[in-house]
Amino acid sequence: MPKDISAEITSLKQRFGSRLCIMGHHYQHDMVVQHCDITGDSLELARRVAQVQAEHIVFCGVWFMGESAALLAGHNQRVYLPNPDADCLMSRMTPARLVRTVLEQLAAAGHPAIPLAYVNTDVELKAVVGEYGGAVCTSANARTMLRWALGQGERVLFLPDRHLGDNTATQLGIDPEERHVLRVGARGLVQPETQALNRRLLLWPGCCAIHARFSPDDVAAARATHPGCRIVAHPECREEVIAACDAAGSTAFLIKEAERLAAETPGCTLVVGTENNLVNRLAARHAKQCRIVPLGHAICGNMAKVTEKRLWQTLTALDCGTAIPVTVDENVQKPARLALTRMLAACGQ
Ligand code: SF4
Repeated sequence: MPKDISAEITSLKQRFGSRLCIMGHHYQHDMVVQHCDITGDSLELARRVAQVQAEHIVFCGVWFMGESAALLAGHNQRVYLPNPDADCLMSRMTPARLVRTVLEQLAAAGHPAIPLAYVNTDVELKAVVGEYGGAVCTSANARTMLRWALGQGERVLFLPDRHLGDNTATQLGIDPEERHVLRVGARGLVQPETQALNRRLLLWPGCCAIHARFSPDDVAAARATHPGCRIVAHPECREEVIAACDAAGSTAFLIKEAERLAAETPGCTLVVGTENNLVNRLAARHAKQCRIVPLGHAICGNMAKVTEKRLWQTLTALDCGTAIPVTVDENVQKPARLALTRMLAACGQ
């Protein structure tokens, strides 16, 4: 291993030139982010993959992000993940076969649903969603996409994050009586005859453990510790947490909110409920104007599996011709891409 990994990565990047593009999610550590040509949230990165010309895309993020990038990449491009073991646990809460069973059960019961899947899902699930007339969404466009999905049929099945689904429904003014969190077992719906399957919005019982750990008590404690502070959080947090905050929105919203406050109310305190790598970066970026603190401890252990050393190893393997690109089963490519491109089309991209 070289003594100075950073310098070695810089040198490898120079060698590849425009043939290489390193993309990174906002939840990545600064040591990784410093090497990224493009950083963004899931929506921004999905958009940018389709525009990138480089033949090698090294994607610093979790598995589903690499898969989505491979789906959107051109025929001459290859996508590499520095650590294929970095997985989003929420993305494993919707096994494709189980979701297909549930969609069939709903149709058989006379309550067919249009599936709307958060981008944090694997490619097999995206393929089922595409096949059943649905689309993908991100936290940045969940409102637009839920409105779109409700326009496609009588009801929507939102997967896998029940909190994002619920918070988005609240933003759209959908009555809680019009929503139902499904009870799902290993073989499909549990006692479907006792469930309110006729409601407009059916929510899959999944969540992000990193964001779901915040509680209303954390919000109350932050207000007590930082009188007059503003508190914002990501909509993967629980409904009661979002209700106690001053505002909620996607990663892009949280970044803009920090910029806005730093410019408009210097000296203020902003409390941010999301993954701490992003919060710490915002705190450092705006340290001269305002104070930015995390709502609580929230580090995604899987995002953290992508390290500077892993990035260097990937670039070295790429240089030697031994790097293994992300591949997507041919049978699922078309419907999965359809689910993603429906999102990009519905959002005017
Ligand atoms: S923060 Fe949550 S949603 Fe994001 S990658 Fe980690 S587990 Fe998945």
